Amino acid sequence: MKINIRMEKGNPGERCEYCGVDMAPDSAYVREIHGEKHYFCCSHCADKYEARLK
Ligand SMILES: [Zn+2]
Repeated sequence: MKINIRMEKGNPGERCEYCGVDMAPDSAYVREIHGEKHYFCCSHCADKYEARLK
């Protein structure tokens, strides 16, 4: 039996994916990049994260 554990799914919005700051899930800034949802503390971090992927 194979068990896949994916930490980031089902428990989103706890940390900004760019700067790593803790945040409440309901205050997270969500942006969809390349079809996947990413969670940030603010739009600035989302912009920088997205720019780094390109
Ligand atoms: Zn941030």
